Amino acid sequence: MSFTLAIVGRPNVGKSTLFNRLVGKRLALVDDTPGVTRDLREGAARLADLRFTVIDTAGLEDATDDSLQGRMRRLTERAVDMADVCLFMLDARAGVTANDQMFAEILRKRSAHVILAANKAEGSAADAGVLEAYGLGLGEPIRMSAEHNEGLNDLYTQLMPLA
Ligand code: GDP
Ligand code: MG
Repeated sequence: MSFTLAIVGRPNVGKSTLFNRLVGKRLALVDDTPGVTRDLREGAARLADLRFTVIDTAGLEDATDDSLQGRMRRLTERAVDMADVCLFMLDARAGVTANDQMFAEILRKRSAHVILAANKAEGSAADAGVLEAYGLGLGEPIRMSAEHNEGLNDLYTQLMPLA
């Protein structure tokens, strides 16, 4: 039995960077349902000895400000419902924003199993943002740098019980 991990969070926090790191070239597009699933990418992930399915919520990058919140909400709800566990990613350099609060609310409402990741956390510029992330009440954040391959050990530790 394997599990499905959905990476959720607002645009530009680093979701696809982590997705690409976990999937490498083993990418499949979710294209069987018209509409919102076009904006979800699914891949076969590997993290050390773990094998699982990972979903990236993509397709928000071209949204206008007007349509962004609604699209983020619908897309995220869809991904959460497909997943066993959600990795909620923040930009630790930006701190917790109003849109981040919206995601936290979606995850709480749907009683999702959440792993919190404060990304872009390489270097001390991210310290304040990592601390702020504790305030979301979603548990201890993983200090992560998807770009620099940091925090993947902590992610492994949190995913291992699901395998
Ligand atoms: P997404 O919109 O959430 O999928 O974000 P992307 O993965 O496309 O990344 C957005 C930007 O953040 C890109 O320029 C990435 O190179 C950058 N980025 C991703 N991870 C990190 C990180 O750990 N540290 C830093 N400094 N930049 C990152
Ligand atoms: Mg992306």
